[in-house]
Amino acid sequence: MFFHGDDPTPADAGSASVDPRQLTLRFADSDQERASSSAPMSRWAARARNPGRVVRLPAGGRPLEEIRLEQAVAAYLPPGHDLRLTLTNNRYSIVAVRRGPAAYVVRIHRIFLGAEPRLARAVARYVVHNDRRASAVLGEFIERHEHIISQAPRRPRLVRLRPAGRVHDLQDIFDRLNRRYFEGMLQARITWGPAVFRAQQRSIKMGSFSVEDRIIRVHPALDRAEVPLFFVEWIVFHEMLHGRHEIRRSGRRRCFHPREFLSQEREFSDYARASAWEKENVDRLFQR
Ligand SMILES: [Zn+2]
Repeated sequence: MFFHGDDPTPADAGSASVDPRQLTLRFADSDQERASSSAPMSRWAARARNPGRVVRLPAGGRPLEEIRLEQAVAAYLPPGHDLRLTLTNNRYSIVAVRRGPAAYVVRIHRIFLGAEPRLARAVARYVVHNDRRASAVLGEFIERHEHIISQAPRRPRLVRLRPAGRVHDLQDIFDRLNRRYFEGMLQARITWGPAVFRAQQRSIKMGSFSVEDRIIRVHPALDRAEVPLFFVEWIVFHEMLHGRHEIRRSGRRRCFHPREFLSQEREFSDYARASAWEKENVDRLFQR
């Protein structure tokens, strides 16, 4: 996962104030929520009363699985309390509860789909009382499903981009190639990748294209005077083609090059020169 921005960076903290490793301990801002619901008019209530902002889909538009889970949990609520439950893929907040005046508003991770009655009851107890035993039951369940949570699609993150290198300016290269080969239409961002060498890494990726963020990363070893511009251009061009032939990849990322991709790759004006240069120099380039 070397090139796909998995390492938590400070910039990442903007999208979630919680360290993902503390995932299992994270249950909403319950203290905050409780405080706000006892206020004369909570932020949430104000928002709910504002007709322009919140649009509830008619029941017909909701996924059946969401309605089922809502009903399963609602069965354990004290009478007179409404529940509005939404399924999420939010890996930072597994269960979030707003205790509004009219209803409990719960956002809950999809791992709870098909939860057994015991668990639905624990969710209800957690929603109503936030009691310790219920938290423990949920915490244990979340821990067992952590592997699923961490596979869930990420939401867009803040990524610090560093396109200007010491020698080569990736943004310049990108813009030039975009005009020349993509009619200026290719949407992506570009940056030098982090300078990380893994001990037993067999191959080193010179470039990568992240499907989620549409970010091209180029290995910083290429930011040297002895690396010719046409070679950096070629690496960038290759990754830009991935942006055109975007493929939703599941699980571990692989480099996928359909025939059309490969033929377009040959349209690069320095194709022959670049591949020859690679054969001759790439080993030396990545020697440690
Ligand atoms: Zn590729």
